[in-house]
This record gives sequence, C-alpha cells and structure tokens, in this order.
Amino acid sequence: MEGLVVILGGGESGVGAALLAKQKEKNVFVSDFGEIKTIYKKELLEAQIDFEESGHDFEKIEKAILVIKSPGVPESTKIIKHLRERNVPIVSEIEYGGRYFNGKIVGITGSNGKTTTTGLVHHILKCAVRDVEIGGNYGISFCRILSIKSPEVVVLEVSSFQLDDIDKFKCDIAILLNITPDHLDRYDYKFENYVEAKFKIVANQGSADVFIYNGQDEEIGKRLSQKINTQKTKAILSEDYKNGITSKDGSRQFELSLKGEHNLFNARCAVEAARELGMTEQEIADALVSFKNAPHRLESVAMIDGVEFINDSKATNVDATYFALSAMDKAVVWIAGGKDKGNDYSDLFSLVSDKVIAIVCLGVDNKKLISSFEGKVDIIMETELVGDAVRWAKNIAVSGEAVLLSPACASFDLFKNYVDRGDQFKKELEKYKI
Ligand code: ADP
Repeated sequence: MEGLVVILGGGESGVGAALLAKQKEKNVFVSDFGEIKTIYKKELLEAQIDFEESGHDFEKIEKAILVIKSPGVPESTKIIKHLRERNVPIVSEIEYGGRYFNGKIVGITGSNGKTTTTGLVHHILKCAVRDVEIGGNYGISFCRILSIKSPEVVVLEVSSFQLDDIDKFKCDIAILLNITPDHLDRYDYKFENYVEAKFKIVANQGSADVFIYNGQDEEIGKRLSQKINTQKTKAILSEDYKNGITSKDGSRQFELSLKGEHNLFNARCAVEAARELGMTEQEIADALVSFKNAPHRLESVAMIDGVEFINDSKATNVDATYFALSAMDKAVVWIAGGKDKGNDYSDLFSLVSDKVIAIVCLGVDNKKLISSFEGKVDIIMETELVGDAVRWAKNIAVSGEAVLLSPACASFDLFKNYVDRGDQFKKELEKYKI
C-alpha cells in the first residue's frame, strides 16, 4: 500500500478530493462511517477509486501517508482520535486542493451571508467574462473543480469546518463577514475556538494579499488587535453602504436586486473584492442589478390576495432572522422555530414588537419561543405541520402585509434540512395560487 492517501467522508468534498487525488497520487482510498450516496458511489466506481462505507478500517487508514478530511467529520470521532494519536497527517479538503492550484482564491467566511456574498463575487466576475468558478461550501467542492479545470479565479465559500485543518491554504482575497455564535457543538462549546477557526481565513496571507472584513463586528475587532500579516486590509463600515453603494468616485449609486441592509453590506464586501480583481465600475453596476440570490434566502415566493410570502428558511440562527425582520417594510406574520441551538431571542424583542402581528411556531418543541414572546405579540400559535402554518398565517395576514418564514432555528426536528423546509413551504403555497 505504498503512498496510501485516505479520504474520510464520501460526500461532495470527499469525492471531489478523491477525484483530484486519483490524478495526483499512487493509492487512493475513500472511507465513510455511514452509507455513501448512490450518485457518489457511481462516480468512485467509474473513476476506479477504492472505497468502504458503513465503517472505517482503522488498520488500513493508520498506514496512510496523508488523510484528507471532509468538513463533516468532527474532531471527536474515534477515527480522528486514533489517527491523531499516531501522528498521521490530516488535512482538510481545501488544504489539499490549494496544493494544486496556482490561480487566485477569493475565500469568503462568516457566520451569515457567505452564500450570498460568494454568489455575488462570482456573478460580478462571470458577467465580466472572467475565467472564474464558484465552489467550496457552495455547490461543488474546491477539489472537484480542480479535478476538471484550473481557472484563473476560484470564489470559495468557506465554512469554519473547512478551515479547521488547513496548513498552507491561503486566500489572495479573504472576506470575513461576521462572527456570531454557531456550530458550538463542534468547538467544545467554546466560542473562542469557533472565532479562531474563522480567523484562519487570513492565516498564511502575506504582503500581496487582501483582507476585507466587517469593521463593526465586535468579535472581529477584538481579534484584529492581534497580529495578522495581511498588509492590505479594508474594514467595511455602515457608512460605506447604508445609504446605498456608490461608484468609487461617488458620482453614481448602484442599483441592487437584493433586499435588506445586511445584503447591502454583503454586496459592499463583494464590490470591494471585485475592485481588487480589476473589475470596472460599469461591470460592477451591471452585475449588481442582475444578480439573483440562491433560493431560501429572503426569497419572495408568492403574492396571494395582496399578502407577500417570503421564504427565508436558511435563517437557521437568531442573527440571520434579526436581519430578515429588519428588512421587512410591512407588518409580518412570522413563522419561526425548529431545533434550537441555544438561542437567545432577546435581540429580536424590539423588532418583533414593531413589526410582528402574529407568530406561528413550527417545531417539535416551541416552549422557548413561546415563553420569550408571550405578552409581546397578541397571537402565538404552534404546530408541527407546514400546512397548518401556511394556512393560519394566510388567514391572519391581510393585503399589504407579509408572511415570513425565518425560523432562527435548525430544521432537523421536522425536516431533512433547510432546503426541504423551504421547499415544503413553497409547495403549500402552490395550493393557494390561482
Ligand atoms: P451562509 O451561507 O453564511 O449561511 P446565506 O447567504 O446563505 O449565508 O444567508 C443565510 C441567512 O443569513 C439568510 O437567512 C440571510 O438572509 C441571512 N444573512 C445574509 N447575509 C447576512 C449578514 N451579512 N448578516 C446577517 N445575516 C445575513
């Protein structure tokens, strides 16, 4: 088993890494603790890559010269502990990809807004006909892109899990959007560990690189005082976007297809990155108007009897819902709830008092939501059925108002994932469309 390289995890990242590794290494083996999806198995078979599923062969894996870890594999698993004890080198999938890429990387991380901002940067470059690909946590994995082509620029959505085991991975342009508590279960319930993981986005940056960050984020501010090597840093402040995003010389205001102040911020970060990559003001202006965000993010999905239905199923934490409610310019029936990640709803109190006329709790355990908002909103109802939630919300809202699904919670109590939750919401609405 000379030069064995093992990939842990047989999902998008793992299979992407395996496809790239097959081109670069002598011996490649994929190992997954659970079942590998049929489409991925088919790919591995077609590429003649050995794999195992439903368990790990510890004796085989410990002989590897390198282990590439998918972001879904937690540090606490037996296999990782076993390999750490034996000092087997473990890298993350983006680290491995970075070894074989000479183009530019724009890496975007943060607790909220990654997908939107990644999509925006990519869209601006694509509209200007640059040789660019998008991936990472967004759609296809970095390694899969590199197994097919080597573009001039790759725009990567990067999660903290992907940053956990980097060594030399470096972004030419790094964007850090915000840091609010999330995924603490993977970080020993220590917020500082999560912050540290996010800050790895600037690890390895040097004099030629650029770091764009949220200049108003407290956590980012705290960490910035520590040494970072990036020479060119740009803090985005609210005065840079709150009255709209303007051209460099301030002579014109760009039109934006997205709603909400948080999206102005995201767009402002994307514009900064695009300028660094040489895009002209005209190219940026054209792209901002035509951008269409990925679904489930403040997605206006239906207008029924004058009531607008908005799907923000991707809001899986309180911060995201805070911005969704902030973006509402009409009275709202708010559909919320799901799997609570240790939520503290107090940040939402004043917004809810101002804008929310009723709350429909959609979750298995709604106690915390109900006790948090009792007395603050006249109507609070609860259900485990999307059909009820939609029907009730529709009955309460009148023309000129909105129904907003922005759960502030994970979806796993009732749904497969946030996509399933948003899709079921949209499907219910179909019944009422004429
Ligand atoms: P991510 O990929 O980081 O999860 P998304 O772009 O998919 O981010 O957005 C996730 C949720 O967060 C959506 O509900 C969206 O409306 C909200 N959101 C987007 N940008 C921001 C931001 N800058 N700050 C807070 N919430 C945001």
